[in-house]
Amino acid sequence: MKTINDFNFNHKKALIRVDFNVPLNKEFQVTDITRIQAAKPTIIKVLEDGGSCVLMSHLGRPKGVQEEFSLQHIAATIRDVIGVDVQFISDCIGVEAEAAVANLEDGKILLLENLRFHDEEKKGDVGFAEQLSKLGDIYVNDAFGTAHRAHASTSVVASFFGENKCFGSLLAKEIESINKVMMTGEKPITAILGGAKVSSKITIIENILDKVDHVIIGGGMTFTFIKALGGQIGNSLVEDDYLELAKSILEKAKAKGVEVHLPVDALIADRFSNDANTQLVDTTKIPDGWMGLDVGPETNALFTDVLSKSKTILWNGPLGVFELDTFSKGTIALGNAIVAATENGAFSLVGGGDSVAAAKQFGLSDKVSYVSTGGGAMLESLEGKTLPGIAAILNG
Ligand code: AMP
Repeated sequence: MKTINDFNFNHKKALIRVDFNVPLNKEFQVTDITRIQAAKPTIIKVLEDGGSCVLMSHLGRPKGVQEEFSLQHIAATIRDVIGVDVQFISDCIGVEAEAAVANLEDGKILLLENLRFHDEEKKGDVGFAEQLSKLGDIYVNDAFGTAHRAHASTSVVASFFGENKCFGSLLAKEIESINKVMMTGEKPITAILGGAKVSSKITIIENILDKVDHVIIGGGMTFTFIKALGGQIGNSLVEDDYLELAKSILEKAKAKGVEVHLPVDALIADRFSNDANTQLVDTTKIPDGWMGLDVGPETNALFTDVLSKSKTILWNGPLGVFELDTFSKGTIALGNAIVAATENGAFSLVGGGDSVAAAKQFGLSDKVSYVSTGGGAMLESLEGKTLPGIAAILNG
């Protein structure tokens, strides 16, 4: 796996695909700088080597050229985060962009306009990718958030760089973290799968049964499993089309020697609201008119015990409706158990959508080993798919 550390960028222009698809407020100010900070190590390495950076990214979902999606809005924030002036050019291809790159001095940063102002970007157009390729000597992909897309700037462009292409440090870290869970991690390996529905996690569950020792199930999808086993789930979230599949997953897990841990108690509510009436009950005995919205203390103790013995942990999806205070306790307890295991030497990866939001909300992000920056890309990696943005660098 070739990374930026395999190159000396002295007098070289690095064409870096970053993921600067950041949230903006109504005044076009960046409201979350996480993604810019995440790209900083790669940018700094190139500059410190004595090279220059040509940064390319998409922002939002523009239809053609739309001023509100201009990357110019974020140039000042990039300067503040990196600590180096940022030149901006109002297109990402063409003579002006080529001239700006030709004039770019070592130690400087050039930001190109939104790639998606050209429809060819998402189509993975080869001619467009070739034009992009004229804007650097070495191609660096540091955009994990779009690595699952076969777009011109994330994948096709790599073919024009021969040996002169590599992963940025962020993307390399993401790949390493996924590999720790899926391939090289110390055993026992535990995957926590929560969230709303079985249907959206089914491919992940099937794929990881060959990689892990324990699977912890939580969130809304619990109840499809409990119903499949004959339990009473009241009005809890359920996918009746998936009952058979849920049963077969449990059988497959048993055959493979994977221990599946389902919640044993639930915090149930009569309404989907913070001030609903609540009760703690056995997960298999939920009365009609009530729904399970969080796990209970016995489940917390059970899951904490599994995690305390785990050496590698993947957390994908909350254990309850963590957005509502009343039903956030199970997810918080789980997060704390992951932090404790990490402090005892386990490797912990938080990845994919809502568990990242939960970890942030409860102040746990800095206390786990790694928090992934890519939602869809992480989910597809866990499903066992080869991401086009990664394959393009690996496959010569
Ligand atoms: P996902 O995007 O599939 O990871 O699902 C995350 C969502 O699942 C969050 O918005 C949670 O509020 C929701 N969720 C978690 N547990 C439950 C539950 N027991 N019933 C309904 N929704 C839930």
